[in-house]
This record gives sequence, structure tokens and C-alpha cells, in this order.
Amino acid sequence: MRTRFAPSPTGLLHIGGLRTALYAYLLAKQAKGTFILRIEDTDQERTIEGALENIIEALHWAGIDPDEGVVLEDGTVIQKGDKGPYIQSERFDIYREHAQTLIDSGHAYYAFDTPEEIDRMREEEKAAGNPAPKYDLSNRMRMNNALTLGEEETKKKIDAGEPHVIRLKIPENTTITCNDAIRGKVEFASHTVDDAILLKSDGFPTYHLANVVDDHLMEIDTVLRGEEWLPSTPKHLLLWQAFGWKEPLYAHVPLLLNADKSKLSKRQNDVSVQDYIDQGYLPEVIINFIALLGWNPGSTEEFFTFDELVKAFSLDRVQKAGAVFDREKLDWLQGQWIRMLSVEEFANRIQPIVAKEYPAAAEDNDFIEKAVLIHERITFFREAPEMLSYYYSEPKINMELICSKKQKVTEELVKEIVPLLIETLGSIEEKDWNQDHLKEILFAVAAEKNYKNGQVLWPLRAILTGLPYSPGAFEVAVALGKETTMKRLAKVNV
Ligand code: GLU
Repeated sequence: MRTRFAPSPTGLLHIGGLRTALYAYLLAKQAKGTFILRIEDTDQERTIEGALENIIEALHWAGIDPDEGVVLEDGTVIQKGDKGPYIQSERFDIYREHAQTLIDSGHAYYAFDTPEEIDRMREEEKAAGNPAPKYDLSNRMRMNNALTLGEEETKKKIDAGEPHVIRLKIPENTTITCNDAIRGKVEFASHTVDDAILLKSDGFPTYHLANVVDDHLMEIDTVLRGEEWLPSTPKHLLLWQAFGWKEPLYAHVPLLLNADKSKLSKRQNDVSVQDYIDQGYLPEVIINFIALLGWNPGSTEEFFTFDELVKAFSLDRVQKAGAVFDREKLDWLQGQWIRMLSVEEFANRIQPIVAKEYPAAAEDNDFIEKAVLIHERITFFREAPEMLSYYYSEPKINMELICSKKQKVTEELVKEIVPLLIETLGSIEEKDWNQDHLKEILFAVAAEKNYKNGQVLWPLRAILTGLPYSPGAFEVAVALGKETTMKRLAKVNV
């Protein structure tokens, strides 16, 4: 099995592209086959510098490394394999030769129409009631091409170097059938398909020609691509036939949709993989999430590692209907994934991130005890430095935060509570400085003085952490130790 991902380097890797690549990769791995990355940069005007690097690096981040084609080796982009080059702009001669074969066999023809002539045809067709005019079966016989000029005249023009394109000659009265692995049988009537340009007047190929020629020469047997390419498929199938080659199995994966069911768009969602990398999503989570966008495992299982996906994935469980990109579900999944990490692994992953902001964390032998306290609440690793800030830096005294409407803590009350905390906690011996004991003593004092527990605990927690959310007061006081706890309480001027 040889599958490929064939992006055009026109921007950052799209999240939908990553899903297509993932499915193609999973199929190849499952069959112990080969996954190929080919770069389709025939449209040089749309090619963007750095896009190729972004595509391959984003794939690598997600754990998808091509076996063949454009690959990353020791951080450098190289081409690997004996069917290259794998970058289409390096293959223009191959496409020209193949276009010539189609001319010779009568499946393609030269056309000399100027842009003005084509515009005129469109205008006339529109005036005659055709809303979307194309250069096709219905009007090619009134255009300036080899079909109307005849062999001799055409040869003269070619020899004289007159600008021309090569067009695919769509056969008349034919039904073109695609047996799509996901969508089943899809039929196209030939009169709905245009005589697409295969080779442009500058000698550059179009996507259609290069795509089919390469899928053949690179021996691709399964083509996975987005649903938006389905309308191009009849042209591709005709090209396979015209060349006399065996077509691959096509599988058009469903569109990704915004919550309102419109096509996934920048306005409503982040669409590039880079956005998700930058925001701190884990590659495992993105893979798990996008695998399920359009594919279901046939069970209620929601968590899949890469290896599990390789085993479980199958094209017959990919749906036809578009798949809604549910951001809340993604965040939920990220939380679940983090919770599933062992505490050691979690600590190992956040320690360098925290140490960037607080170098002391790098040498903290008790780091794991602190990590435990946030393991249940974190969604992004980038939140860790702030969540652990109070261990490595002195929080500011923030009276607004220490008071709380919800907990009925007023500034007057703080004036009573802080001395009480200092007195009560100060009298606890170091050896008894544990959560159970702190709880017993503080609850007893609160009861005795007629305070609600929250009226005592909220100010303590807020003073110790300087944060609106954190683990509870006892956990924090124990993790900080008696000395630091007392120092921070003493700093409050009341
Ligand atoms: N170059 C096309 C793209 O950018 C690939 C279409 C295909 O996979 O056949 O998506």
C-alpha cells in the first residue's frame, strides 16, 4: 500500500490537511506500506515561502513523518526515494512529455484562444442564459483550437510559435463513475465537465495533469483528499483512462465545519496547525481529536493513542457528512489526556516550562509534590508557571483578592482574621504541620469565633498564593511549609 499527502505550499498547514495526512498515514502504517509526502507547487504564484517547511514541521510535531518523498532528516528538509523528485516544480519536463502523449493519442488538443476570446464566449453564453459558462463540449467547436482549425492549420500555428494551451478533450455522452471508498458510487455526466487546461501557455502544467501523472509514477494506490476535490475527480479519472493506467482508489474525506455548520473558517476557528501548537495543545490530543472528526471507531471509546488508531482506523467508518469542529470538546479532551499522564510524566513535562520563568524550579527536588497539586486542574502546560508562581516568587498582597463577596470576607473581617491566623498557625509545631492537623485546628477556631470556614480559608489561600484560583488553603500551606506561610501572613498590613 502506498498512500500520499499532496499539499500545495500556499500557507501554513491547515488542520483539515493534517487530518487528511493522518488518515493516509494510518492506512499506510496499518498495511505496513509507505506514506509519501509530495509537494504540489505547480501554481508558483500561490506558493509561499516557508510553507513547505511549516507543512513538514507541523506533520513532524504531530508524529507523522513521511517514509518517502519530502522528508525531514536531522532537522533538514530533503527528498528521499527512487520515484522523485517529489516537488512538482522540479518535474516540469515529465508533465510536458505526458501532455504530448495525450495530444498524440487524441485525448487532448491545442487551443489558441486569447483571453479576450474566452471572455467573449463567456459573455455570449451568459447572455444566452448559461449562468456558469465553461470551455466544454457545448462550445468548443466554435473556439480557436485544433478541433476547429484542422491538423495542418494547427501545425502551422505551433511551428510559428503561437501561444497555446493544451486542453483535455472530454468525451461526448459519457458517464464517468468514481467508486469512492467513502462516498460510494459517484457519477458525473461528461457534458458537466469542462475541457480543463492541462498545460498552460507558459509550458507549466496545471494541478490536474501533474496530480494524475505523479500518482501514477509514484505508484500511489489509495488517494485520500478533501471533499473539495471531488468535482475534479471526473477529469482525473478521464486522464487515468486516456493514459491507459489503472486508477487508484479514491477516498474523499468530509469537510470540517464551524459550529454553525458552515465550512471551517478563520473567522470562527483557528485553522492552521501552527495555531494549535502555539496555544499549547498536545500533539497526542490533536491527533486523537482530528481522527474522530469524520471517523468513528464503532464503539463509544473516545481516547486513542497513535498506535491504537493504526489498529482501529478503517475507511468504511469515515462518514460522508461534514464534521463539526467542536472546540469545547477539544479542550475537554486535552484535560482528559493530561489527567491520564502519570504524575511523574506530568511533572517531567511541565518542569522545563516552569523553569523558564522560575529557574529555581529546575533544581527543585520537591517539584513533583507541587505538580501533583495542579495535575487535576490544568488544561494547558503553559498555565503551569502561573499556577505554581507562589512557590517560586513572593505573591503581592492584593486586598481586593483577599476580600471576597461570595465568601463574605470584608476588609474589616480581614483585619480580624489575619491576626487570628498568625496566632493559631504560629502555635502549631513544625512536626504537626500537615493537612489534617491544620484543618482540625483552623476549623475549631472558626467554630469557636463563629466564622464560616470559608471566611478563614479564603483569605489564607489568597494571601499565600496571590491567585484567584489555586489548590486549597491547607494543601498550599503544607506545600509552602510553616516558615513561608508565617512570613506571608506577616506581610499583610492590617
Ligand atoms: N494539491 C492538492 C491540495 O492542495 C492536493 C489534492 C489531492 O490530494 O489530490 O490539497
